[in-house]
Amino acid sequence: MPLLTSVPIAALPLERFESVIGGVAYRRLLERFARGRELLDGHAMWHVSSTARGGGVAEMLVSLLAYGRGAGIDQRWEVVEGNEPFFTVTKRIHNNLHDATGDGLPLDDEAREVYESIAHGAGEELAERIVPGDVVLLHDPQTAGMIPVLKRLGVPVVWRCHVGIDTPNSITHRAWGFLRRYVQAADAYVFSRRQYVWDDLEPGKTVLIAPSIDAFSPKNQALSDGQVAGILAAAGLQEEASADDASFVRMDTSPGRVERRVEADEGRRLRPDDVVVLQVSRWDRLKDPIGVIDGFVQHVLPRSNAHLVYAGPSVDAIADDPEGKEVLEEARARFASLPRAARERVHLVTVPMSDVEENAAIVNALQRRANVVVQKSIAEGFGLTVAEAMWKARPVVASRIGGIQDQVENPRSGILVPPRDLAAYGHAVVDLVSNAELAREMGRNARGRVRDNFLGTRSLLQYIALFERLVVGEGRPAEVSEPSGYA
Ligand code: UDP
Repeated sequence: MPLLTSVPIAALPLERFESVIGGVAYRRLLERFARGRELLDGHAMWHVSSTARGGGVAEMLVSLLAYGRGAGIDQRWEVVEGNEPFFTVTKRIHNNLHDATGDGLPLDDEAREVYESIAHGAGEELAERIVPGDVVLLHDPQTAGMIPVLKRLGVPVVWRCHVGIDTPNSITHRAWGFLRRYVQAADAYVFSRRQYVWDDLEPGKTVLIAPSIDAFSPKNQALSDGQVAGILAAAGLQEEASADDASFVRMDTSPGRVERRVEADEGRRLRPDDVVVLQVSRWDRLKDPIGVIDGFVQHVLPRSNAHLVYAGPSVDAIADDPEGKEVLEEARARFASLPRAARERVHLVTVPMSDVEENAAIVNALQRRANVVVQKSIAEGFGLTVAEAMWKARPVVASRIGGIQDQVENPRSGILVPPRDLAAYGHAVVDLVSNAELAREMGRNARGRVRDNFLGTRSLLQYIALFERLVVGEGRPAEVSEPSGYA
C-alpha cells in the first residue's frame, strides 16, 4: 500500500484578485509570481499534509496551491495515508502541543516507532519522485518525521507548523521534545505567530506567515439572500424557504448546487425569522462543543429568543481525526439531556463531506445566515472559522487565545472572552443579538480587518519571499521575517 496519495489541484486565475486588492497590489503580485517562476525554473513545489479535507490546513492548501498553479508554478500535493495507530499518535502530539493530555498515553519509544514507520516510509516514497531543484513544504507534526529523509536529497525542505500555544508548559514541551529532532533538520520553519516559535530553533531559519482565506472559494464567495435561503432549505436546515436557488460556484468556476441534506439533532427546524448563534468546528474537545451548548443554555437562552446551531463535518470522513466520532456522541448526549424547551432552541448539525465544495457552500450559507458567530475554542492555532465569519461581516464572540487574538481587535471587530468563562461568552452573545446597530458596525469592521490582513494574496507573497531566500540564499533564509501588519 502506498503511503502517499496525490491530491488533484485546480488552476485558478490570479486576475480575480484585482477587484479586491486594487491595481497596484495586483501588479506587484504578478511581478512576484514571475520571480517565483524564474527561480523554480520548471521545478516542482511539493506539499505534504495529513488530509485533503476537513480542517484549516486542507482548506488553505486547496486555494493557495490552485492560485500558484494558475500562475504557472508546478504545485504538487501529497497526503500521508497513515493507519489508525499513526493517527492516534499524531492526534496525541496535536493535543499535547495545545496543552491537552488527549488520550493520556505517553509519547515514548513505542509511539516513536509507530510514528517513524509511517513518516520515514512516506519520506522514502516522496524521495523517489523528487529531483534536484524541487522544493518541499511539509505541513504539521504528521509530516515532520519525513524531514531527515528528504534532507538527504539536498533539496530545500520547509516545515510549516499550523499549531501552537501562547505559553508553553510541560505538556507542550513533551510534544515538542518528540518532534524536535526531525524539525531541526529543515531549512526553514514557518509558524503562524511569533509566540509559537520554539526557543531552541535557529532564529535565522524561522519565518512567520499567518493563515488566510480565499474570498472566492465556495466557503467564502458572495451569496445572495436567495442563495443563502435556497442552500439552507436544500440542505434541510431551514423550513418555509424555497430551495429553488441552492446554487454556488465551484472552485473551477463551474456551477454547483447543494443537494445533500445535513443530519441534525434538534427539537425543531430553523425558521427564517429565528435569531441564529453559530459555531462551525470539527468535532474536537479543543473546540469545546459542550461548553458552547452549556454556556448558551445557561446564559443566552433565558435572556433572548436566539437559537444555537453547532455545525461540524460528518465524522466518517476525516481519517486523521480519530476522536471525532466520540466527541460528536458526547455532544449528542448533552443535547439529549437538555430540557425540552432548550432542545427547541439547540441544533446539532453534521454536514455531509462527500463533496467538500458542497459542504463548504452549506457552511458559507450558515455563516451568512448567522446573527452572531461564536468560536469558543480552548486552544486554536489560528482559527480560520473566525476570519471566514469576519469576512462575511458577522459579529464574532471568540476565545482570547492563539491566532484568534491576531484577527479580532476587541471590541472593534469582535468580542474576545476568556476561553472557559461561560458567563462572559453568553453575555457577549446576548449583547450582540439585542443590539443590531452594534452588531452591524462590528461586522463592518471585521470585514475590513480581513480584507487588509488575512486574504490569500498576502500569504502567497510571503511564501514567494521565503522561497526566494531559500533558493538565492543557498537553501537558508537569511533572517527572521516578521509580517509587517500582515498585508
Ligand atoms: N469546516 C468545514 N466544514 C465543516 C466544519 C468545518 O469546511 O463542517 C472548515 C471551516 O469552515 C474552516 C476549517 O474547517 O475552514 C477549520 O479551520 P480552523 O482553522 O478554524 O480549525 P482547525 O479545524 O484547523 O483546527
